[in-house]
Amino acid sequence: MTRPFLSRLLLIAMLALSPSVWAAWLSDEQPVMGTVVRIELWSDSGKSGQTAIAAVMEEMRRVDRLMSTYKEDSEISRVNREAARQPITISKELLELLERALRMSELTHGAFDITYASAGHLYDFPRKIKPSAEALAAALAAINYRHVALDRANSTVRFLRSGVRIDLGGIAKGHAVDRAIALLQARGIKHALVSAGGDSRVIGDRRGRPWTVGIRDPRQQDKVIAVVPLSNAAISTSGDYERYFEAEGVRYHHIIHPRSGQPASGVRSVTAVGADSTTIDALSTSIFVMGVKKGLALVESLPGVEAVVVDADGKIHYSSGWKRP
Ligand code: ADP
Ligand code: MG
Repeated sequence: MTRPFLSRLLLIAMLALSPSVWAAWLSDEQPVMGTVVRIELWSDSGKSGQTAIAAVMEEMRRVDRLMSTYKEDSEISRVNREAARQPITISKELLELLERALRMSELTHGAFDITYASAGHLYDFPRKIKPSAEALAAALAAINYRHVALDRANSTVRFLRSGVRIDLGGIAKGHAVDRAIALLQARGIKHALVSAGGDSRVIGDRRGRPWTVGIRDPRQQDKVIAVVPLSNAAISTSGDYERYFEAEGVRYHHIIHPRSGQPASGVRSVTAVGADSTTIDALSTSIFVMGVKKGLALVESLPGVEAVVVDADGKIHYSSGWKRP
């Protein structure tokens, strides 16, 4: 987001009995990456906590400047303009995230595919625009993660055919959250929550208790279907209710099935829990595309990952290790 830095640091608790009068829970919320970024942390000294929060917000904005397809001067936008013609030199950070995205494509048998954007860019959700059948058919051939060729030694990316576009909307927020947590840890912060829209990661605990993150009912904004206790974990929710419009009785939302170029059906929301946000962000999107059966089968094969899926009828499905209160 291009908004100026807003210093809206909120001191939510000062503990008079703590060793330092500056020890406190701090929190802040700012609009970044087209969503709300929230940070909550325990700081032994209020000043260093405030500096850490400012550094994290700046880091989120930096990742957004690199990876947003909404910004014409982002690295990813340049790749989309030029990589079909020649190999484009990219930063190590972008190269590594592209590698992870392609590994997710292999793992999910193509359900996660950043080239979904070859057709995905034809949708405009706020404006209720969807592609015509002809435009969609023409774009479909460009959707295939195998069209993205990376050269690690030279740090380049190249598209193997024309019409290919990539978008990191299914993984970049997770990456940004992981960067944020790493930054906080490097500054000695031991208890924190960072969330960007549907992606959150926590370290330590909150006043001696696990952190808790609520999972929204995909059809009733103010209701939660579960409250998940978390410590040292990442959680990500993908839903059909964040960005969508309805036309002729069909819900057009932002998670696209790479085979059809159309919104994936069969699921309303997926929440996945695991160790790191980058993986879990991409996984929640992937499970959404794969559907209840294949999606949960994938989860069962992955150690340390659990998920809950709300299907198109509103029925809730849990992976075998999901701990219900
Ligand atoms: P949110 O962005 O609300 O956190 P998700 O994590 O589920 O939700 O990511 C959805 C985003 O992922 C879409 O807005 C789009 O940018 C991207 N995306 C959509 N379909 C796919 C797909 N099949 N593979 C990879 N990314 C996708
Ligand atoms: Mg996701």
